[in-house]
Amino acid sequence: MLVKAACTNEVTQRWTASLGYTRTGVSPTLVRLAQKSATEARWRPSWLSPGGLANVLLTGLGFTWKRLLKWRRHISGRKLTVEFSSPAYLSESARLASEQLPCRVLAFYLVTAVRDPRREALLHKQWCRDHSIVGRVWVSSRGINAQVSGRTADCVQYAHFVAGRFPGVKGAKAKGASLLCKLDPVLEPAFPRLRVKAKKLISLAPELDRSLDMEDRGQDLEPGEWQRRMQGLESGKPGKVLDIRNNYEWDLGHFAPAKRPGTEELVEMSPSSLGLTSEDKDTPLYMYCTGGIRCEFFGAALRKKGFRQVYKLKGGVQHYGNTVGDEGWKGRLFVFDRRNSVAVGLEGSASQLACPICGGGVVEEFWNCANLDCNRRVVACRACAERLLGCCQECRHRQGQ
Ligand SMILES: [Zn+2]
Ligand SMILES: [Zn+2]
Repeated sequence: MLVKAACTNEVTQRWTASLGYTRTGVSPTLVRLAQKSATEARWRPSWLSPGGLANVLLTGLGFTWKRLLKWRRHISGRKLTVEFSSPAYLSESARLASEQLPCRVLAFYLVTAVRDPRREALLHKQWCRDHSIVGRVWVSSRGINAQVSGRTADCVQYAHFVAGRFPGVKGAKAKGASLLCKLDPVLEPAFPRLRVKAKKLISLAPELDRSLDMEDRGQDLEPGEWQRRMQGLESGKPGKVLDIRNNYEWDLGHFAPAKRPGTEELVEMSPSSLGLTSEDKDTPLYMYCTGGIRCEFFGAALRKKGFRQVYKLKGGVQHYGNTVGDEGWKGRLFVFDRRNSVAVGLEGSASQLACPICGGGVVEEFWNCANLDCNRRVVACRACAERLLGCCQECRHRQGQ
């Protein structure tokens, strides 16, 4: 939040202080505070809203920082903290070079009740348009999910705009509650256009989706704690690692102990598709996905099904790579933008994966099957890519017959 104070008239000791913050609308408490300030110190608060930013302007005689800080506390206490997670770098010069790239890919989600998703989506659409931000923003009654890209300052500002839009997130006032934003430097915006919609954030199987309780979705593990748990599994502690993504994402890269999910879309996934039985009701279940949101929903589904020890990797593999590195990870990480895949941790350091088609080469290529009726995502080594001519194994085989 921006706090500015200046003595505008030295003779009369007239001061003007402005507190800029990204929250539209004025709460009753803020109005009460304003009225009190006005009568006590003859300060005159007013609200200006240029471009969705609310600005508190205090003008008055005799300036006290105490009063200003009181305002500041009130306003910032109603806002989520924004936490940025950025890639790890090999060296200081690599970090500097990367940070000088003009654009960013910003990814975040927030699970929270949204009263009017349509209206909320419109506000975000307008904001993003005004700031030339491209990408996807989905808003539903259960929260918001965004993968966007634009100029660095605009991405950072958008994150603050969002945090300011949802001051009522459960635990927002508690210490440590934050909007975790993955922020990757890129040369140019990573999406072709902007799409902002009021729609479902995540499509689970209807049977799982119907009775979700989003207040109960398992326990977050910080990346460091996740790493310790993975090491614990290696040394024989009980538990299962669940990849809450799709087959092709697993093919491109995964945590070593995770089995291939066996499904092409999340809507096909169920406890039984992951090999869970009633015997696992007390097994520690460690879930991970790209950025974390799929685990929030699937975690709620597992809890509903009576699994008692549900853990999810906070911020997903992206945050893990930024925080811990590639420890325990194999291959690359599939991402849903122009980049297709990114390194987990430092570029080129993770152990490489064998081609799922021939088992020989190293996974390097990635495409959608050229047969439009199929359009399946394929991951393979370069030799297989050349042999399959843009198709998947099955379609190529059929063509050959
Ligand atoms: Zn191959
Ligand atoms: Zn195909």
